Amino acid sequence: MDKTTILVYQFLSQKPVSDKNLLALKKMLAKKTGQGLVKNSEILRIYRQLVKQGKLAKNLALEEQLCLKKTRTLSGVAPVAVLTRPYPCPGKCVYCPNEPGIPQSYLSLEPAVERAKAAQFDPYLQVKRRLKQYRQTGHQPEKIELIVIGGSFSALPGKYKRWFIKRCFEAANQQVSPTLLKAQKVNEASKYRIIGITLETRPDMVNLAEIKLMRQLGATRVEIGVQNLDDRILKLVKRGHGQKASIKATRLLKDAGFKVCYHMMPNLPGSSLVKDRSMFKQLFSDQYFKPDMLKIYPCVVLKEAPLYQWYKDKRYQAYRDKDLLELLVRVKTDLPRWVRLNRLIRDIPKDYIIAGTKVSNLRQVLVKEMQAQGLSCQCVRCREARNLPIKKQALSLKISQYEASGGQEYFLEFVDVQDRLYGLLRLRLVKKNRLAGVFPVLSQAALVRELHVFGQALALEDKQKLKIQHKGLGAALLKRAETISRKNGFKKLAIISGVGAREYYQRFGYRLEQTYMLKELDNKLDN
Ligand code: SF4
Ligand SMILES: [Zn+2]
Repeated sequence: MDKTTILVYQFLSQKPVSDKNLLALKKMLAKKTGQGLVKNSEILRIYRQLVKQGKLAKNLALEEQLCLKKTRTLSGVAPVAVLTRPYPCPGKCVYCPNEPGIPQSYLSLEPAVERAKAAQFDPYLQVKRRLKQYRQTGHQPEKIELIVIGGSFSALPGKYKRWFIKRCFEAANQQVSPTLLKAQKVNEASKYRIIGITLETRPDMVNLAEIKLMRQLGATRVEIGVQNLDDRILKLVKRGHGQKASIKATRLLKDAGFKVCYHMMPNLPGSSLVKDRSMFKQLFSDQYFKPDMLKIYPCVVLKEAPLYQWYKDKRYQAYRDKDLLELLVRVKTDLPRWVRLNRLIRDIPKDYIIAGTKVSNLRQVLVKEMQAQGLSCQCVRCREARNLPIKKQALSLKISQYEASGGQEYFLEFVDVQDRLYGLLRLRLVKKNRLAGVFPVLSQAALVRELHVFGQALALEDKQKLKIQHKGLGAALLKRAETISRKNGFKKLAIISGVGAREYYQRFGYRLEQTYMLKELDNKLDN
């Protein structure tokens, strides 16, 4: 054992764990070794080595203390973003940067792009490195949400798409497989499971064939670049599709059970603060839209995009930060409780931005501003229980019902008295499912589009008593969804399940059919 290891060993075998004495340990190490403050990841590495050697007992509280960026896995899953290789996009959007050697709409200095470039866009390496990074910082990335970025996924060649996703599964499985199907099968019982895959695409590229492929790949969430609802603005920015395409894509995706995330872009050429405000209102009042999730990327002028010339010619002007902030305060205040505002600004390095907001911590600034005005946001993200210990009996089940894209949506949530959110389920009831021709299993089936319990991502075998993910909230939500489906005359329930979550649903009598987890519902009404 080296000197540092001995000191860590002596300290950890005597002292209980707290923030305070962790700092004391670091100070002591700095003093006795003559080096600066040791990082948590280094202490974690030494601790793990000592546990492996049987010198220290496993200490979950300590592991949690040493876990760095805790928020990364607070939603219960470890996000892993992977970039596809550069490929020409059929779009010609004026605000979109196009840098040689980089996937369209991305910039070389964005952190995710830098990571992908270092791996030469190899999906296997990207996933492998990210998982390693999670482990080194004390996380348990055993439930992975794979997020595929790099522009319109649908524009890529079919063969590449299949290969790309297969390699991601292989990286999670830590072994290669002869086919995608086989890699998925292995992942069902693997240590690192891909429990969801997000793909991004253009609304006009969403069709039955594309959806079929997305399901075969294991996708569970689709992000579509809606950007604006006004056809005149979409035409002006050369978006290449209108509102109709977004309406159609939204319905098809929801009927297939996907969670739908919209990318919206305020401050586009031809828009105004007033128009943007009413656009966001329409998004949640008009049943044709109502996305489950939202990413708001205010338009910015980048040298690499055609909009730069418009800006120089004074044909385009960005909102003042103050006005943008006020607009977003209103937008956030109006959000329904069933939507999740995933992002408020893109991770673009400041130096790239010629005009438009450079406030990279926009969300924090907004929260402060809203607090000052006595306002709050009730979206899913703002209410998620942040790894809090819970008493199940203190939670109540709240159900919101709304019409969306030709179906009835039920949003089930477990909340505490302060309206903090511990678990949610999205149930869709649609009489005439547009996807039934492609997936006969969906004919006359109720659909669970999302089941999510919040809390720190745990090792699958860790049975920490107080942690939310093992409280059976998921089971209770599912049971209620079955009851609602039965009451509405549905004879079966289909769940869009990520490959790595299939085993979970098997416990409740679901079986795999045509990429969905399916259960026939008996006639018994339990409540
Ligand atoms: S569709 Fe997306 S990637 Fe293609 S040009 Fe438009 S913004 Fe860029
Ligand atoms: Zn919110």
